[in-house]
Parts: sequence; structure tokens; C-alpha cells
Amino acid sequence: MSDKKTIFKMIIDGEIPANIIYQDDLCLAFHDVSPQAPTHVLLIPKKEVVNVAGLTEDDSSLAGHLLLTAGRIARELGIEESGYRVVANCGRDGGQSVDHLHLHILGGRPLQWPPG
Ligand code: AMP
Repeated sequence: MSDKKTIFKMIIDGEIPANIIYQDDLCLAFHDVSPQAPTHVLLIPKKEVVNVAGLTEDDSSLAGHLLLTAGRIARELGIEESGYRVVANCGRDGGQSVDHLHLHILGGRPLQWPPG
């Protein structure tokens, strides 16, 4: 991982603002600044992990907590019944632009498959 602080770490550290909708000891969720759907929230661990490929066995409970929290946030945002997508872009071909693990929670409109 690069030594440079990512924009998401700056949000965790309170150095730049974000529209935060949820946080606990392990994670933080906020609205994406460039929403790709009527609901587009990012859920990130407070721990610095670069992406899914950077998770280790030690992160098992963190990874589970992130998925459970994504489901709870979707429910609270009212998109559970209509459906939604949870996406973790990983690396260059995955389209990852911020090197801090994040789950996109997208909903509020029909989402196409396969992705582009
Ligand atoms: P990815 O391309 O999967 O790495 O996703 C990064 C996401 O972070 C993009 O959807 C961006 O719109 C979003 N993003 C970048 N900077 C910010 C920010 N300061 N606040 C909220 N979302 C951001």
C-alpha cells in the first residue's frame, strides 16, 4: 500500500467532510460524492485495508461485519425490497480508484448486468 494518505483515510480522520450516515468502532458509511444511482453509499473499514485482496484471515470478522452492515444500511435506506447491489472494485481492471477498501451500496433504480 502507498504511504500517501487516501481520501477515505482523511474522512476517517475528520480532515475532510463527508455526508456520513453511519459509523461504529469498525466502519464508516457516507454518501458517494458522485452518485451512480439514486442511492449510492460507500461503506469503509476504519482499518486501512487496500481492497478485498488486502484482507487476511485476521480480518474475517471485519469482513463479515462489513457485509452485515451493508445489508442493514440498505434496509434502513429503504432499498431492501426493491433490491440493490453491493460492489467492491478491486485493482486496475476492477476500476478501483481509491486504495482503501470500500463497498458501494447502490440502489433505487434497476441496475444492468453485466457491468461495463
Ligand atoms: P472506486 O472507483 O471503486 O475506487 O470508488 C471510489 C468512489 O469514491 C467513487 O465512486 C467516487 O465517486 C467516490 N469518492 C471519491 N472521493 C469522495 C469523497 N470525498 N466523498 C465521497 N465519495 C468520494
